[in-house]
Amino acid sequence: MERTTCCVVGGGPAGMVLGLLLARAGVAVTVLERHGDFLRDFRGDTVHPSTLALLDDLGLAERFARLPQRRVTTVQLPIGADGSLITVSDISTLSGPYNYVAMVPQWDLLDLLADEARKEPSFSVRMSTEATSFLVERGRVAGVRYRTCGGRTGELRATLTVACDGRGSLARSLPELRLRQFTCPMDAWWFRLPRREGDPHGLVGGVGDRFLTAMIDRGEYWQCAALIPKGTDAERRAAGLERFMAEFSTAVPWLADRAHELRSWDEVKMLDVRLDRLRRWHRPGLLCIGDAAHAMSPVFGIGINLAVQDAVAAARHLVEPLRRGAVGLRDVRGIQRRRWPTTAAAQALQRLAHARIIAPVLAGHPPFGHPRRAQRMSQLLATAPWLKRVPAYFIGYGAMRERPPAASVR
Ligand SMILES: Cc1cc2nc3c(=O)[nH]c(=O)nc-3n(C[C@H](O)[C@H](O)[C@H](O)COP(=O)(O)OP(=O)(O)OC[C@H]3O[C@@H](n4cnc5c(N)ncnc54)[C@H](O)[C@@H]3O)c2cc1C
Repeated sequence: MERTTCCVVGGGPAGMVLGLLLARAGVAVTVLERHGDFLRDFRGDTVHPSTLALLDDLGLAERFARLPQRRVTTVQLPIGADGSLITVSDISTLSGPYNYVAMVPQWDLLDLLADEARKEPSFSVRMSTEATSFLVERGRVAGVRYRTCGGRTGELRATLTVACDGRGSLARSLPELRLRQFTCPMDAWWFRLPRREGDPHGLVGGVGDRFLTAMIDRGEYWQCAALIPKGTDAERRAAGLERFMAEFSTAVPWLADRAHELRSWDEVKMLDVRLDRLRRWHRPGLLCIGDAAHAMSPVFGIGINLAVQDAVAAARHLVEPLRRGAVGLRDVRGIQRRRWPTTAAAQALQRLAHARIIAPVLAGHPPFGHPRRAQRMSQLLATAPWLKRVPAYFIGYGAMRERPPAASVR
């Protein structure tokens, strides 16, 4: 029989941070990741001050700084009276060394965390291993059944199972963890275009006819996102790639000279944007964190950082009970209590941006529904620039800062 103390399902940002923190505290932890590597393109790449400060606490700041990255300090939204982008949050105004967002490919961050965790004797990660169902004994989750890519199946028993397997989590099929869903006005298209000398740096936005774009500077290429009205993927594809690229070139004229390099719709990946959260994040023997507990929209790039902060809070609450070998309902309930307010606040902020800015713009209307309201908003931000500090702090650190367990700090 295979046994571990903590079985973490999913090696995304939440799972890898939790695995590293618990292993450093001497807890036996096994992470199951269904993919063979961490190479996942078109995923969240924004590492915010809360995660940068954590990496510093873990003694990983120098290694992280050596990863290829671009730094961004402002968040811009299309609320100008003419749809132009206005800076609504300036992270450089925050005090401390981490007053920027590092744009780092997610796989580089995950590789770094995995490398570091593998140095701990109590850590193991099983790649290409998918958890297929929970083992339930006397009403308690006692581990998982799994299947490897080679077709081998097995059972891994654990004192606690933590679902970090994203928004398609296995745990979401459990009836007692009911899901609350919020409407999302958009889906996201991702594609790449070459980057040339003289192009801008960092994160650049644009507003088109019923779509919004954001370009992430990846050194040799631009990772481009286009937000389109939800459910219009097939209709827009049927209208032809040339038409979309012509619209895109109008919205982002400095990329127009290479729009033709996108040759087929196969190069444009569709990501269904969802915003939801479980009403209950736990049941005996099981805890859900990260997107498994609350799927986040890409707006403000908060998702990874919220997932990482969940993992930090979970590790702090769980080290002692896991060392004792008994995790009670009170322990897991305490984690949801701690993380729920900051999650609900982050989702409320995203819903506000969806309803007031993204939905009107995608419907071809001015943000806030009326040009005068948008104008007032941009005037307010121009006359009271200190207002940009409030969202900057919230986006940078969240409503509550989490500290890792002392035993995990280096
Ligand atoms: C279009 C889009 C763009 C986004 N952009 C950003 C952004 O720029 N910045 C940001 O901060 N957030 C962004 N987000 C949100 C962000 O991606 C998530 O909030 C974040 O990745 C959540 O981390 P996680 O570890 O909880 O889950 P995930 O990142 O989803 O990781 C889950 C992991 O579990 C694995 N897994 C799944 N099922 C199983 C199983 N049964 N067995 C074993 N392994 C399994 C998966 O392979 C994956 O590695 C974006 C989301 C979308 C939809």
